[in-house]
Amino acid sequence: MKYISTRGKTAPVGFKDAVMMGLAEDGGLLLPESIPALTKDELAAMAKMTYPELAYAVLSKFADDIPENDLKELINKSYASFETPEVAPVVKKGEVFIQELFHGPTFAFKDVALQLLGNLFEYILKERNEKLNIIGATSGDTGSAAIYGVRGKDNINIFILHPEGRVSRVQKMQMTSVTDDNVFNIAVNGTFDDCQDIVKEIFADVEFKKQNKLGAVNSINWARVLAQVVYYFYGYFRAVEKGAEKVRFVVPTGNFGNIFAGYFATRMGLKIDKLILATNENNILSRFINSGDYSIKEVVITHSPSMDIQIASNFERFLYYLYNENSSKVVEKMAELKSTGKITFTDKEIEDTQKLFGTFSTSNMLTETVIQYFYNTFKYILDPHTACGVAAALEFHDANYVCLSTAHPAKFPEVAKKAAGVSPVVPAGISKLENLEKKCILMDCDTAKVKKYLADNI
Ligand SMILES: *Cc1c(COP(=O)(O)O)cnc(C)c1O
Repeated sequence: MKYISTRGKTAPVGFKDAVMMGLAEDGGLLLPESIPALTKDELAAMAKMTYPELAYAVLSKFADDIPENDLKELINKSYASFETPEVAPVVKKGEVFIQELFHGPTFAFKDVALQLLGNLFEYILKERNEKLNIIGATSGDTGSAAIYGVRGKDNINIFILHPEGRVSRVQKMQMTSVTDDNVFNIAVNGTFDDCQDIVKEIFADVEFKKQNKLGAVNSINWARVLAQVVYYFYGYFRAVEKGAEKVRFVVPTGNFGNIFAGYFATRMGLKIDKLILATNENNILSRFINSGDYSIKEVVITHSPSMDIQIASNFERFLYYLYNENSSKVVEKMAELKSTGKITFTDKEIEDTQKLFGTFSTSNMLTETVIQYFYNTFKYILDPHTACGVAAALEFHDANYVCLSTAHPAKFPEVAKKAAGVSPVVPAGISKLENLEKKCILMDCDTAKVKKYLADNI
């Protein structure tokens, strides 16, 4: 399987190269040049597989430059770090299915992708006898999941910048309690945007980047999307076993990464009836699905910070398919977005989108109401991101919705406390961090100093 860019200007590359490349060299996103369609027999067999078996069945269609046994080993290793062998179990609460994606080491769904990506990086670097120094800025979740993905791995260092005093207590503990030699936490006296600007400036120094073998960690790596495709299959089959007639997934969405994986699963032949895109008050994607209004507004701070996003970095992958794989059209539309702050769509394009996608946008108040209702009725605490999705399922009210639960409630305990008057039980995996040694350096908001720190430690 070869990978091409949504913008059509890079030569096709294999899976391993696509993983190492991340962003395509023409600024586009990588996609497989064709989508393998699963046969009825293959789908029937998949319904009975364990999570790692299913992951192999999906990934082997795309990662055909990794030998069978190696790929199996990479998958097994990645999902052995989850606290349940089911990896992504489905529970039923009243009429609503919840697929819990938070059983990984940092208690958020990003582990599903980043545990695999870390192992893939290590495998490919070893084979090529290369080194990689990952540098990234985080507002919380991605940084901790990325650190856990690569801690202790050979030939990789990771440097994560976070804004001092502006990530949650749990997130800070998760990152700084990782004391492996290859992990470097940098708390910056500044905001998340300051951290991101520093990273951008460092990447803009092409010579420095090359010399120090710098790489990024972000939600656009193809392997991340691919890892996420797997749990749609797993969740679909579990929901059917538990009585769902049509399966509709509700997906709390920020960067369009998670829901794109669901879209991709349908393109492989999984009969998902609807994909419901759930947003908070940052509702650009909801407006797009409702009426084709894709115009960027100011970011609003909400109860679900990991979805406080206006520019959905994975949306371009969907556009590529919406425009029937016409990469010139993608280039044109991305330029339109850059110059005017919006993309316009034809009625036909909106209709085509609505065939598969529905949407619902939630306020902070409704998020609290849903958390309270769920706790009072089922004694089950939802994290605020998940609650945005559950709000949609309750609104549509029938028995076929699988709500993806993207974080453990103990990661965002303040909202549950406010809404339902309870504090989520803190899992041992979080409470034990309290007493661990911490490793973090505090730095001024100064790109030159951060650069020196990188160079000294690589
Ligand atoms: C990252 C994140 C999301 C949003 O996922 P996207 O792939 O960006 O759509 C939702 N919930 C939580 C808890 C997250 O960490």
